[in-house]
Amino acid sequence: MAVPQRRISKTRKRLRRTHFKLNVTGLVTCPQCGAMIKAHHVCPKCGYYAGKAVLVNGKLVKEEKPAPAKKPAKKAAKKAEK
Ligand SMILES: [Zn+2]
Repeated sequence: MAVPQRRISKTRKRLRRTHFKLNVTGLVTCPQCGAMIKAHHVCPKCGYYAGKAVLVNGKLVKEEKPAPAKKPAKKAAKKAEK
């Protein structure tokens, strides 16, 4: 097994370990309540995402889809033209 040729001094070791640190990234302030939240996540404090209420008391708010507008049938429109 390979063995280090010489001992690493305290200074060398500590200089190397100055880079061993955790950094908090990807935190942004919630535009609704100002809390620090993960970017692109629903705010756990106020339940808002992209300016809309997504969670109310921890429950998902279901968005009502607007009914699709009925288009007039093409055949009927062609018959009316003739
Ligand atoms: Zn918020």
